[in-house]
Amino acid sequence: MAEAVKEQQVEENVPYRESNLYRLRHSAAHVLAEAVLDLFPEARLAIGPPIEDGFYYDFDLGKDERGKPITFSEEDLEKIEARMKELIKDNARFEQSSMSIDEALEFFKDQPYKVELIQELAAGRVDEDGRPISEPVREVGIYRQRDFVDLCRGPHVNYTGQIKPNAVKLLRTSGAYWRGDENRPQLQRIYGTAWPTRAELEEYLERLEEAASRDHRRLGKQLSLFHISPLVGAGLPLWLPKGTILRETLEQFLRQAQRERGYLPVITPHIAKIDLFITSGHYPYYKDSQYTPLDIDGDLFLLRPMNCPHHIEVYRSEARSYRDLPLRLAEFGTVYRYEQSGELAGLTRVRGFTVDDSHLFVTPEQLEDEFIQVVQLIQYVFNAMGFSDFRARLGTNDPESDKYAGTPEMWERGIAAIRNAADKLGLNYTVEVGEAAFYGPKLDFIFRDVLKREWQLGTVQVDFLLPERFALEYIGPDGEAHRPVMIHRAPFGSMERFVGILIEHFNGAFPVWLAPVQAILIPITDRHNDYAREVAEALQASGIRVEVDASGSRMNAKIRNAQLQKIPYMLVVGDREVEAGAVAVRTRDEENRGSMPVAEFKELILERIRTRSLEL
Ligand SMILES: [Zn+2]
Ligand SMILES: [Zn+2]
Repeated sequence: MAEAVKEQQVEENVPYRESNLYRLRHSAAHVLAEAVLDLFPEARLAIGPPIEDGFYYDFDLGKDERGKPITFSEEDLEKIEARMKELIKDNARFEQSSMSIDEALEFFKDQPYKVELIQELAAGRVDEDGRPISEPVREVGIYRQRDFVDLCRGPHVNYTGQIKPNAVKLLRTSGAYWRGDENRPQLQRIYGTAWPTRAELEEYLERLEEAASRDHRRLGKQLSLFHISPLVGAGLPLWLPKGTILRETLEQFLRQAQRERGYLPVITPHIAKIDLFITSGHYPYYKDSQYTPLDIDGDLFLLRPMNCPHHIEVYRSEARSYRDLPLRLAEFGTVYRYEQSGELAGLTRVRGFTVDDSHLFVTPEQLEDEFIQVVQLIQYVFNAMGFSDFRARLGTNDPESDKYAGTPEMWERGIAAIRNAADKLGLNYTVEVGEAAFYGPKLDFIFRDVLKREWQLGTVQVDFLLPERFALEYIGPDGEAHRPVMIHRAPFGSMERFVGILIEHFNGAFPVWLAPVQAILIPITDRHNDYAREVAEALQASGIRVEVDASGSRMNAKIRNAQLQKIPYMLVVGDREVEAGAVAVRTRDEENRGSMPVAEFKELILERIRTRSLEL
């Protein structure tokens, strides 16, 4: 036990790809392939890398008599896992060696996918556009355990016995195309996971189960938050009244915070002439993620993929002087981006979404201060959500790459401004080279939810390029024209995705201030309905979101239903409450607070809402 802890501590600051855990999972993937070949000697092997939290391996089992790809059954998976455990216990050595191209082609001649990989390696691997991304090789790396040999550069653990048989598990299968290409054969992917200890495996499996039960698509339906209609289209969610209330509450919260910080609201259309996006460089730069332009009376229009160009045109609507700056324009702006239909999922991967967008136009001297204030706003927003576990990531340009616009001097200035701001705020951040936007460096905020999953949320980007492209100007104190700098920022990111994450993080049990229904009146019998409505109206008049369950159901059924709806407070009313002008308060986590005067409850709930309390 003490040893395991020590090993973890050593691992703490090692990137995953260089960690023991990565080697362990990569090794488990090889054992998986070995087990499959033992049981299905006809299987053809594709590739099998480690992934976050586990590994997979892709196989081709051939086709059945109807020409459909043969798949693995649940039973197959169990047999394969059992075989893996035997192979692990047999404790074979992972031996590294290499083969010449000719040797490898001969050795793998019955494995067509391996042959294709060897040929590409020999030719110098090319990316999907045919550009070489590595040098041609004369030898390929090989790893062997027992009779199983795979094309591989490693690294692996030394012996199969280092994989703990009780800490490895096969999870599921799915179809996957060879090289991710729909026109190539469909393969059978087996997902598995491996951990240093059985306890860690069990903890992970619990997290998986918990994540499935919190799935926002399931909860979104149960709580009537949103709906995906096949007639409207995939990736185009409809916000139902309760989901809309939740979203609008978030929007109002941010609007208020922005008003207090000198932001100005704008409203702009969802489409614009294609020329706008040609000027900005979004077209054809992001062509693959955009929809086909619309022809309106001979002019081409684009569904906007970004809000920035529209806001720039607002800036350009009048002559600006240094006295107007910083100019902070804000809009909940809806944008449209193409996503493959297979990628669409609930609220988190959609085709149209709304960004809590803002563009700040500042003088170079104001950049650092404004940046600090934007970061403070994001911290304020995260605190209000009760997000305590987050970190920041500074994305810089890769000086070796030519995909970035602007001069080195601009980049230096932008990165220095972000660094200074982050340091002054005492922010915990990492620097990641090559993670910048093409137009400037950025700071991303990454939030870890209760299930320890990381989500990239808020982002702040410095941009010297768009002001250049649109020739933006302001008149300085010297009477000369100067170029402003832009900051793009969105604390939530996308409202759709953010709400999806919120649903899962809170398991649908939102803090009172966000809950679509904050309290529900539960009359014990029909003769208490009038009193219940009276109390509801009194609470509503104070802005509290209340419902009355006047259905004919029994009280216990009403309470159970309210709990399923995760309504924070249930206010039960019977004869005694009617007489005393009171409500009997129960919380959604089954705490019985007893009877209290309506005025007292009102004070309690208003206090919880005002302070955005996470407690009930
Ligand atoms: Zn390998
Ligand atoms: Zn922008």
